[in-house]
Amino acid sequence: MTVVPGAVGAWRRAALDAVGGYPEDTLAEDQDLTIAIQTQGYRVQFDPSAVAWTEAPESFRALAKQRFRWAFGTLQCLWKHRAILRTRRPSGLALVGLGSLSQNQIAPALLKTKQCRLTALVSGSAPTMSALAARYKISASSCYTYDDFDRIAENPDVDFVFIELPNSMHAEFTARAARAGKHVLCEKPMANSVKECRAMIAGCERAGVQLAIAYRCQFEPHHVEAMRLAHERVFGAVKFIEASFGFRIGDAGQWRLKKSLAGGGALMDVGIYVVQAARYLTGEEPEWLFATEAKTDRAKFKEVDETICWTMKFPSGVIANCSTNYVVNGIDRCWVGAERGWFELNPAFNYTRIEGRTCEGPMRLPQTDHFALELDDFARCIVEKRPSRVSGAEGLADMKVIEAIYKSIERGKPVTLR
Ligand code: NAD
Repeated sequence: MTVVPGAVGAWRRAALDAVGGYPEDTLAEDQDLTIAIQTQGYRVQFDPSAVAWTEAPESFRALAKQRFRWAFGTLQCLWKHRAILRTRRPSGLALVGLGSLSQNQIAPALLKTKQCRLTALVSGSAPTMSALAARYKISASSCYTYDDFDRIAENPDVDFVFIELPNSMHAEFTARAARAGKHVLCEKPMANSVKECRAMIAGCERAGVQLAIAYRCQFEPHHVEAMRLAHERVFGAVKFIEASFGFRIGDAGQWRLKKSLAGGGALMDVGIYVVQAARYLTGEEPEWLFATEAKTDRAKFKEVDETICWTMKFPSGVIANCSTNYVVNGIDRCWVGAERGWFELNPAFNYTRIEGRTCEGPMRLPQTDHFALELDDFARCIVEKRPSRVSGAEGLADMKVIEAIYKSIERGKPVTLR
């Protein structure tokens, strides 16, 4: 949709705020606003039953004036938004690792994106790769094994790679993608240590490519609203956060339970969403934390953590009481208490069906494909040459907190973060 005539447009306040309000520098404000809002990733929906009234010119002179205004305004909009016209081609991406997330969430989400297209595959399994290549029409010359991945440098159809491998492989493939001159979107957790995160950031900076971490919740409307409620102090300053995310993990032989591949257990896999949420809701880094760990199945969780509870204190005085586990289903929530009220997301961190409410009632927000939103955002960052809001620095900040949590467990006492 290229234009919503001003008389009939109904704009969400958050969308208007995201583009800096109603434009005053073009004569076709409705057209300008429609383009700006879509560029920010919002969808414009057409309502066939909407009724509205608009001005009809009463003389030839008024008609000519209206038409001139419209034509001139259109030219102004084309000039103002020329970056989009120049880069109409969607960014091509290579999926690196074709496991569950790639096949069941990312590949389908790609069909819903506006700015991305799947142009290459990277896998260690020839049958999986050829099945996906056939389904998504990827030529054999754009299919790579882990060994010949570096040849991707010669593929002009690949603008960025999306790394969907076990955590221990994120750092290596980020470094190789950067050397190949490709931008990198990397799954969470960014890597297995702060040291690796730092090396990934430095490698991408050296190569002049962008690095973002796939923190899908930061683009999800309920999380965006929760951030707004917290940052704008809608119910006063935030005072207390309680957040938990866990699930009952199956197969004891999987990589998620091997320290060398996963780096840790529930905390690295899903507890990281809780760390992220506490950080983006407060807009602060924790200055102090205390963590404890429990294991009810020592054989299954021999190498990695099963259940961790931790408390973080932020500089403003906010306390976040958090937990994560690999043994029970159904805990997936984030509750925020402020001076004059509260709000919560529950379920909070799922792929689908996020729900939110405040002390005043339910949040009535659309359900979206988080993966499509994060992909389009990264593609826009590449085109517009601006850093992602979920850049490598965000992944590094989470990893600092995670390492401090493990340190606190090991020492049996609180840890101060610098
Ligand atoms: P998965 O086990 O389903 O897939 C992993 C892929 O890596 C497979 O294709 C496998 O063949 C390949 N692989 C290569 N070397 C391997 C090795 N040595 N051992 C095991 N597998 C190996 O895992 P997944 O669920 O797709 O997770 C991939 C990444 O995505 C992880 O970093 C995970 O944390 C992340 N993830 C993110 C979300 C999210 O919501 N953002 C959800 C799930 C997973």
